[in-house]
Amino acid sequence: MPEWHSDENDVTIKIDHEKCYGAEECVNVCPAEVYQLDDDGKAVAENVEDCIECGACEGVCPPEAIWHSVWSG
Ligand code: SF4
Repeated sequence: MPEWHSDENDVTIKIDHEKCYGAEECVNVCPAEVYQLDDDGKAVAENVEDCIECGACEGVCPPEAIWHSVWSG
């Protein structure tokens, strides 16, 4: 599973690309613009270092493809 980590804020995000179908809910909800869609239309957390651990992306992913250290610990 693709994984992004930043030592700066100690945040890890994993996105199951088997489940992700590009609903873009994470892209739209995140105030820090952590998420983008890649060329295949899959979500990526390229800006993980900008995550402010607000928790807004928790539960927004329809196929539950996101694992985030802020709630999954
Ligand atoms: S916890 Fe908040 S800032 Fe961090 S990725 Fe999710 S929505 Fe963005």
